[in-house]
Order: sequence, then structure tokens, then C-alpha cells
Amino acid sequence: MVINMIKKLTAEQRKKIKWFPTIDYSKCTGCMACLTKCKRGVYAKRDGRPVVVSPYSCVVGCRGCEPVCPKGAISHPSDRHLTQAMKGRSLPVCCGGKNL
Ligand code: SF4
Ligand code: SF4
Repeated sequence: MVINMIKKLTAEQRKKIKWFPTIDYSKCTGCMACLTKCKRGVYAKRDGRPVVVSPYSCVVGCRGCEPVCPKGAISHPSDRHLTQAMKGRSLPVCCGGKNL
């Protein structure tokens, strides 16, 4: 089962889960589609390129900005990594499949 979204985490719970985007700058053209897509303030524009400035504002399980990148420059941890990170944690999980 793919976990698409985990809701209502406390700030402390959220910071224990390393889920946020990584940008491959060798592919990035600075089009800013990712920054436009994300409504969570994860990205900011710095010197003409996107920078992940607020990684723990990324919604756990969301990959919404990946498909909007025309260069395939954005990645997140694997679903397997997320499943491992969730093991043993009592956290509210929603599998609605609705990315931001
Ligand atoms: S995965 Fe979702 S919440 Fe995270 S940076 Fe991308 S659009 Fe924003
Ligand atoms: S959408 Fe992709 S190519 Fe465009 S700025 Fe973001 S990471 Fe770079």
C-alpha cells in the first residue's frame, strides 16, 4: 500500500520523518513550476533557482511537485523509505491519494 498523505502530525512528529523534495541542479532550468505548484512554502527563489527553504513544511507522502517539473529534477524518498520511517509510530494516516 502506498501512503499518499499523513495528516495532523505535531511539529515534533513531523521533524522525525525525513520527507521533503531534493532538486537535481544539473537538470533544473529555473522555470519555477515547482515553486508555483507548492502552496506550503517549501520552496523559495534564490538567485534564479528554487531552493528548499522549509523542508518540514512538505506534506508527508505528497509528491505533487515532481510531475510538474519538466526536467525530472525533483525527487522524494521512496515509498519504502516512508513505510520504514512510519514503522512503530502511532501517527494518523490517510491514503486518499490526493497530492497537493
Ligand atoms: S511534495 Fe507537495 S508539499 Fe512537498 S514540496 Fe512538493 S508540492 Fe509542496
Ligand atoms: S520545476 Fe524543475 S526545472 Fe523548474 S525550477 Fe523546479 S526543479 Fe527546476
